[in-house]
Amino acid sequence: MTTIKVMPLLEPPQYMKLNKVVSALSHQYIINDPLHELFDAVNAIPVQGYDEDRRVIYWNEASELLYGYTKEEAGGQKIEDLIIPKFMREVVIEAHTNWIEKDVEIPAAEVTLCDKSGNDISVFSSHVMFTNQYNNKQMYCIDIDLTETREAQEQAIFKEHMLETIFEAIPDLFFLMDLDGTIIDYRASNKSVLYVSPEQFIGKKMVDVLPDEVAKKFQNHITKALQQEEMISFEYELTLPHGLAYFEARISLLSTYQQIMIIIRDITEQHKSAELIHHQAYFDSLTLLPNRFLALDRLTQILIEAESNNGKAAVLFLDLDDFKKVNDSLGHEVGDKFLIESAHRLQQVLRKEDTVGRLGGDEFIILLRGLADHHDVLTIAETLLNTFREPFKIDGRELIRTLSIGVAVYPENGSGASDLLRNADAAMYQAKALGRNTYSFFTQEMNIVMQRRYAIEEQMHGALERQEFELYFQPQFDVKQEHIIGAEALLRWHNPALGNVTPDEFIPIAEHTGLIVPIGQYVIKQALSFLNVWQSHDQKKYTMAVNLSPRQFKDTELLSLIKKTLNEMNVSAECFELEITEGVLMGGQSYINDALVEINALGIKLSMDDFGTGYSSLSYLRDYPFDILKIDRSFINGITLNKSDCNLVKAIIAMSHSLGLVVVAEGVETKEQLTLLNELGCDVVQGYYYSKPIPAKQLLDFSVALL
Ligand code: C2E
Ligand code: CA
Ligand code: CA
Repeated sequence: MTTIKVMPLLEPPQYMKLNKVVSALSHQYIINDPLHELFDAVNAIPVQGYDEDRRVIYWNEASELLYGYTKEEAGGQKIEDLIIPKFMREVVIEAHTNWIEKDVEIPAAEVTLCDKSGNDISVFSSHVMFTNQYNNKQMYCIDIDLTETREAQEQAIFKEHMLETIFEAIPDLFFLMDLDGTIIDYRASNKSVLYVSPEQFIGKKMVDVLPDEVAKKFQNHITKALQQEEMISFEYELTLPHGLAYFEARISLLSTYQQIMIIIRDITEQHKSAELIHHQAYFDSLTLLPNRFLALDRLTQILIEAESNNGKAAVLFLDLDDFKKVNDSLGHEVGDKFLIESAHRLQQVLRKEDTVGRLGGDEFIILLRGLADHHDVLTIAETLLNTFREPFKIDGRELIRTLSIGVAVYPENGSGASDLLRNADAAMYQAKALGRNTYSFFTQEMNIVMQRRYAIEEQMHGALERQEFELYFQPQFDVKQEHIIGAEALLRWHNPALGNVTPDEFIPIAEHTGLIVPIGQYVIKQALSFLNVWQSHDQKKYTMAVNLSPRQFKDTELLSLIKKTLNEMNVSAECFELEITEGVLMGGQSYINDALVEINALGIKLSMDDFGTGYSSLSYLRDYPFDILKIDRSFINGITLNKSDCNLVKAIIAMSHSLGLVVVAEGVETKEQLTLLNELGCDVVQGYYYSKPIPAKQLLDFSVALL
């Protein structure tokens, strides 16, 4: 059903009116000359006169224009030879004869004639018959050119079809209304989004069919559109049988017609995806908890609220203890399940008004609002710790991961969200330092530690470019021969703002930020470049040991860089040693294993650093291609003082030798230690007894003096 009409281009046809005029003129015995004068006067209208034999006796200017024959060309010609198409000739001749002989009038009609060039000419043709003073009959045809009208009609029909197609193709709903809001008509290609059946709309107002709330919205916006005389759009929602749907309505005033057009679009899908995007932006996709962004936003809200009513609040920074091991040993899937379950447990402990969010990894944040007393935080922290002491059952396994919690309270530990978060983070570090599975409240001392951490992080950016790093070298000695066999490269950082920063302080931060990757590349290049100089300087096959952090193994360019640098520096692979700690191996990641195998295949030596401090797992020594074992300084320290350390070192050396490993003792500071290590069969030593780590130039002097 279509009742929305496209307006015809022309008003009621003029030729209809004219027809009446012509008919009124019809009577007998009229003199022709005044008649012709009349037709000449209205020469915008084509008029032709014919005698009883249908020969042209009158042909005005408009006829010339319409049919293309001049007056002279047409004069005396028969109508059927001029403008009547072939197939109509007989009919025309017969009709004309009938009129003359039997007085059967030819009615006015729309006909298609043809012009001089043979083109179709559509006309509305009216005819009158006169009998002149000689008693001869004369027929006059008065034609109205319908070409333009026809075109206009076709255009109108075309436009209507086009609208039809558009209405059908567009899923929008169209409503046409009176100015008072009564629905006159509608179009809906998709009826499933209609609130009530279409018939119910007609003759009603939106207020009658839609729920109050929505109807009111419509009414307000219609009023606004009428006032402002411009298009207005707004959104609303409706509960449809298939669920909640969202719509956008646009109201346009058709002022010429005193009507309102409302176009309604179903935007439920857009709404859903916008909501999804919103959710993704503010919520953690794994645990569905608020993410860092939303949590900090809530914290800001909580602080505003606390400030205005002199209230207290607390931020708890939570970190699962040793969570990495779950991921590394049981895989990420188990790790993910563990995190989801952790989120559950946290939510269960908290009050409704509190927020728990995930900051990333295994870090969570808890925001406690409206606290009566800071002592309440203690209770909550205790409960949290207890909840995590219960084993998690995941994939048929029982797992326990305890929590370390750092607490910062408002207003004492900071007034802004980021201050509190940072301080809670510092307190969490403290809890870890206290042995984990505990909580710690923020103190001013922690603040100092944290500030230092941030300062280091800040200064480390660009430090490479500013050439603030320098490699020092600590020579290593063959215990028996007492001569230099090589050195360990140890990084030094001098920063104008911070002074000298020790590697124990900056390496973990560089690891954390990932800056260890470019810094590590720098170390490798510098160490090998110096080794090249050193070897040619003394003409000896010294070795060079470089420390590698776990994070450096994620650097896909690590191995190619090593290969390339060995090549460029003309250093053979067996002179190069890479020191790694057990920490590198604990994850058991295959990419680390692959890298170690390749390192071994290249002929580079692999060294187990700091042995004795970690798990001191023998299986690592067996399973990975180690060449060297370095006994940690802390054991060497005690060997001359207590028997147990001495026995331990003795056992380590024996065991290493049985595995074919060369043993290096680190941190040898005294002659006694050296003598004892010699007795115990240690192969290589390094330490302050011989030399501290020294700059390259100094090492060159030092080693040449010993030659
Ligand atoms: P590390 O690999 O165990 O290095 C030995 C550390 O012991 C060095 O500290 C060295 O200066 C120190 N040391 C050597 N002999 C003695 C001694 O007789 N007595 C005492 N008390 N200490 C001695 P440093 O240079 O401060 O390095 C600390 C740690 O930083 C290194 O421990 C290593 O793990 C890391 N590190 C240093 N440079 C690099 C590097 O270029 N890359 C990476 N990834 N780590 C590095
Ligand atoms: Ca080392
Ligand atoms: Ca070491």
